[in-house]
Amino acid sequence: MEIRKPQITGKMITGKNYIGNEQSAKGSKTYSTFDPKLNIATEWNFYEATEDEIDAAATKAYNAFQEYKNFSGSKKADFLIAIAEEIEALGDELISTYTKESGLPEGRAKGERGRTMGQLKAFATLLKEGSWVEATIDTAQPEREPFPKLDIRKMLFPIGPIAVFGSSNFPFAFSTAGGDTASALAAGCPVIVKSHPMHAGTGELVSSAILKAVERTGMPDGVFSNLNSSGIEVGQQLVLHPKVKGVGFTGSIKGGTALYKLANERNEPIPVFAEMGSINPVVALPSALSENGTEWAKKYAGSITLGAGQFCTNPGLILGIKNTSLNQFIEVLGTEIEKLEPSCMLHPNIHNNFEKGKQELSTQDGTDVIASYETAVDPNYGQQKVLTVNGSDFLENPKLHQEVFGPFSIVVQCANANELTDILHQLEGQLTGTILGDASEIKTFEEVVDALQSRVGRIIFNGVPTGVEVCPSMLHGGPFPASTDSRFTSVGTSAIKRWVRPVSYQNWPQQSLPDALKNDNPLHIMRIVDSEHTNSKID
Ligand code: NAP
Repeated sequence: MEIRKPQITGKMITGKNYIGNEQSAKGSKTYSTFDPKLNIATEWNFYEATEDEIDAAATKAYNAFQEYKNFSGSKKADFLIAIAEEIEALGDELISTYTKESGLPEGRAKGERGRTMGQLKAFATLLKEGSWVEATIDTAQPEREPFPKLDIRKMLFPIGPIAVFGSSNFPFAFSTAGGDTASALAAGCPVIVKSHPMHAGTGELVSSAILKAVERTGMPDGVFSNLNSSGIEVGQQLVLHPKVKGVGFTGSIKGGTALYKLANERNEPIPVFAEMGSINPVVALPSALSENGTEWAKKYAGSITLGAGQFCTNPGLILGIKNTSLNQFIEVLGTEIEKLEPSCMLHPNIHNNFEKGKQELSTQDGTDVIASYETAVDPNYGQQKVLTVNGSDFLENPKLHQEVFGPFSIVVQCANANELTDILHQLEGQLTGTILGDASEIKTFEEVVDALQSRVGRIIFNGVPTGVEVCPSMLHGGPFPASTDSRFTSVGTSAIKRWVRPVSYQNWPQQSLPDALKNDNPLHIMRIVDSEHTNSKID
């Protein structure tokens, strides 16, 4: 590859680690990020964190936790709002760094920045309202026979410092100040980010905004750190550090499961909330294809190629029952998807993996090509491909179930509804599942719908899986390997529940109870008192 000399443009990127409020570059190993559009390295060099720096970040985080865990909801809310404001104040330099390091367009960068700020503000609102701590009170009944009932009160408390591993495909919303960081800080947990090597400059700028917010709102030194690394060692050491008490991860199944295993081998195992791969099955029921087949084919051509297919919710699998409508759908999907211009992918490694994945699946028995964009493109641009296969071949071959990260999908032609149901039962856990059809078909194809619902975290009717709304009712997760714990979400305000544990206070003096559990309810929050939801005081 031709190596061109990069231009020096960045003002604020130092390439150093942020150990709490201090910048640090003790190591000798450095690496650069990459501009996939120009196909050259960027001008920035990043210092890989050393073992001492990892230890310093974890120790500072642990010390900061002793103070931060006791801060009021409104103080932590002010911190989160200040982070959002400081991210916005970074202005154009942040947007141009993001686009340079990811190859993603400016509109996407701005949209994702807005989403990231919105997430931080949503957690601030949750904290100010305060009821999220699930205060539950059972008052004493000294007269109860045969034994008196004791006063017991329970609420949620933060678990301690959290290591956050951001993803390649969302340099803002699932990275340095993304959902994992926002939810952990909201819960009262300090955060140590293992910066993603593909967008370390973007990560440093966002880190600098977080540290300005730390200073502005009087947060303890160590409540946030950002560590650089271009290999797996820094992340492994972080997960094994005894002062780290939880892990948030978004990325590959390989990476997520490796960290999950590592965390469970510790003397004190810790939870790892990893959001990993998914092929997001879409079931096209007969009426969807006979009545709106062309419309759905056009929509799915767009959804498969959106963001060069680099979404964890990309529709990588479309299932239908063999008939002429399915044939027509396949034909239109093929024609429409070949009309679209390929986009630049995030990095040469992601592009190479995409090419390998496409190649591997295209050579599996029984597969046929529906569409393949063959016109020459610039380096790192992802040429879309769609295959088709019979249900029986798909059932027999688990290779066809694997995620190809990029603009790729397989249409499975099932012999009948039973075969479709069998496939869904055998599928690995998924983030989403989609049903296209008429509302009456939900009943007619009850077993299909039930099989899909049992394998996914979010079930969609007549839509596309790409696009994840950030709201309290969102579930972004799913049965393994979509995530390591299907009971939790990484998107929306419920994501805070990953970083807390309940504690019960038995027979505890009023003045020493946390405010959320005191009789006079000074926070005016909703609680469950003697099995009733109420925000009243206890007389
Ligand atoms: P990744 O390779 O899993 O990396 C995510 C982060 O975890 C990086 O910081 C990486 O560090 C670290 N990491 C990975 N494996 C590790 C290990 N064994 N031990 C310690 N740290 C480890 O994911 P990615 O870079 O986002 O994208 C690569 C692939 O992940 C894609 O091709 C796609 O298949 C998948 N992906 C899935 C989703 C999703 O939401 N489902 C999103 C994005 C990507 P280093 O890079 O420094 O090793």
